[in-house]
Amino acid sequence: MRLNPFNTGNINVRSSGGAGMPGGKAGGLGCGTIILAAIGYFVFGLDPMQTAATVESVQQGSQQAGPANTDEQAVCTASEYATEACNALDSLNSTWGRTFQEQGFTDSFRQPTLDLYSAGVSTACGSGSAAMGPFYCPADETIYIDTSFYDELARMAGNSGDFARYYVLAHEYGHHIQTLTGVSGQIRSAQQQSPGDSNALQVLMELQADCYAGVWAGKNRNLIEPGDIEEGMEAAAAIGDDRLTGGRVSEENFTHGTSQQRSQALRLGLRGDDRACDAITQIG
Ligand SMILES: [Zn+2]
Repeated sequence: MRLNPFNTGNINVRSSGGAGMPGGKAGGLGCGTIILAAIGYFVFGLDPMQTAATVESVQQGSQQAGPANTDEQAVCTASEYATEACNALDSLNSTWGRTFQEQGFTDSFRQPTLDLYSAGVSTACGSGSAAMGPFYCPADETIYIDTSFYDELARMAGNSGDFARYYVLAHEYGHHIQTLTGVSGQIRSAQQQSPGDSNALQVLMELQADCYAGVWAGKNRNLIEPGDIEEGMEAAAAIGDDRLTGGRVSEENFTHGTSQQRSQALRLGLRGDDRACDAITQIG
């Protein structure tokens, strides 16, 4: 995807923990680590939509982080991935800001913060660490991405795959949209009322976030390069709960949906109409 350079002032970014050091401790990590990180993110639902406790129980031994670096230029130029993430965030802010405005909800729109942290980070949802992969914390409206996750992802996927990285960020941004629209709150109450349906409800949340990721790309079709969509569909298919667990986990324990469901949700979003995604969580 050919994104424009970010505009100063149109993004909220910071980096915690590593004083802007790109990469962190990537040296000693192998493929097993990145697979665990990906599974942590995608299977266990570590976007802590409703379970700050999940995050806290996963995290161990986080390093004491220094004060966050809020210098936009320093944060966004710390690495190629940081720049790419800042460009994508600017595009996401513009696309979603415009969408809220077009539908008469200008006042409901707030930009999220992106924290490109290294090593460990303390959030309003508990502590985060590299092993968790990217997640969104609704309590501080911040998307957290450990920069070493991108390093490892690049090592595993080679030089291709920029759209897969955008897709991950756009998915987390989708959770921010759910916070703004109140959907995450509604799903949380439904889960409390009906704990037996908790995982099924979580799947709907995740599929809607996939769909919203597609909406962003669909509304920026002019920036899409050949192969991007296929790359996104592949990523969506590769990270379904059924694929990741090798079919060993029964469907009622899924938290993110099957490969087919995730690809379908992304495809639905790519049409560029967010209202089609809204229907995913309309229950009862
Ligand atoms: Zn998610």
